[in-house]
Amino acid sequence: MARIFWAECPECSELFHAHHGELRNSGTELLCPTCGAEFLDTDAARIVE
Ligand SMILES: [Zn+2]
Repeated sequence: MARIFWAECPECSELFHAHHGELRNSGTELLCPTCGAEFLDTDAARIVE
């Protein structure tokens, strides 16, 4: 089962989940499903693992 983590969008504060292996510490930007903002996990308002 894929590990996930939760990321809080720095633009709209939506908390959404992402796959750990693909996106955590990978340099790939996360895409907020609510406002469409793209940001690195290191720029998330909050990370919950
Ligand atoms: Zn957002």
